[in-house]
Formats: sequence, structure tokens, C-alpha cells
Amino acid sequence: MEKESEIVFPGDFLATAEEFISGYGVYEEEGNLYSAIMGRVVRDTERMMVKIVPVTSTPLFLRVGQKVVGRVTDVKSSMASLEILKVVGKEREISGERKGIVHISKISEGYVPSIRDAIRINDFVRARVLMARPAVRLTMAGPDLGVILARCPECGVVLQRKAQNMLICPSCEATFRRKLASDYGSGNVRSRKI
Ligand SMILES: [Zn+2]
Repeated sequence: MEKESEIVFPGDFLATAEEFISGYGVYEEEGNLYSAIMGRVVRDTERMMVKIVPVTSTPLFLRVGQKVVGRVTDVKSSMASLEILKVVGKEREISGERKGIVHISKISEGYVPSIRDAIRINDFVRARVLMARPAVRLTMAGPDLGVILARCPECGVVLQRKAQNMLICPSCEATFRRKLASDYGSGNVRSRKI
């Protein structure tokens, strides 16, 4: 079985030469195996071989104007924190900073009295990059931006759209306010069209 794992850099320790034999992109020194190139480690546990699959594409850094998909990791009274998972339309992994902040003033086009009426922990959202460095600032204002997937905190099931910015749990029928993207519930997350 081949198991891909973390990205390594030249000189990173991979395993001892007793555990694995060296494959592509790996060199041995004094009984230890190190990566010779930057890439993703593949450990073939049948042949007990470790090799590196080079990262050939140029790194993907966040840029102003890009749309991203993230998971909400924290919600405070004036801002929400997101772990940015991907850039919309790109399959490559993001390099560099992956934490983004949405300020309450950037949650929606209109006035938002409470941030928790718009976004909650573990929601998946689509947002646009306002500032990429030194910190990533995001906006959710715009019809195609906002929450794209949310679950009921009690039942764990995916909430369904009930009204423009209202979700309902199909199991317990509790309702929740959110700032929804226009395509919420269209299966965008499951079909990976995000
Ligand atoms: Zn429920």
C-alpha cells in the first residue's frame, strides 16, 4: 500500500535505512534516509520503500481578489477566523498562510447585528481575499459569497435552506440564521464544484 504524506524539503529526515529502502528523490547518509528534493513523501509499505514525488507546480499563494473556501474555526463578537482549504477553481494546495479573518463589517452587504446570526463554527464558507499579506483578510459580502454548507449543532445533519438567509434542520426542525451563498444546498460541496 502506498501512503502519501507530508511535504518535505531537501535534507529532511525520512526514516532509517533499516526501516525503508530508498526510492526516487531519497539519499542515504550514515544509516539514515533524507529527502534530496522538495516533494511529497510516499511510503510504500509493501516494498518498504520511501520515495519523493516532486512538487512540480509552482506554489499557490493567496492573492487579492481570489475566491476561497474555508472552514470556520472561531467566531468572536467582531470577527470570525477561517482555515482556508482551497482557492476556488484550483486543485493545488495553498502555500503559506492559511488562516483568514472576516471582520463583522465584511460578513454581508447589509448591517449584521450579531455575527452569530451569519456564521458559526465549522460552517464551510466561500469568501473573497481582500488582503493577502501580512495577514489574510476576507469578505463574505456578495451574492455568491457566504455559507455553502452548515450542519445542525444538535443532530449533525446538513441544514437545508428555508428562506434567503434561513436554514432548517430536516431532523429536529430547528432554524438558524446564516449569511448564505446563493448556491447553498445545490450540492456544490459534495460535487466538489467549489
Ligand atoms: Zn437538528
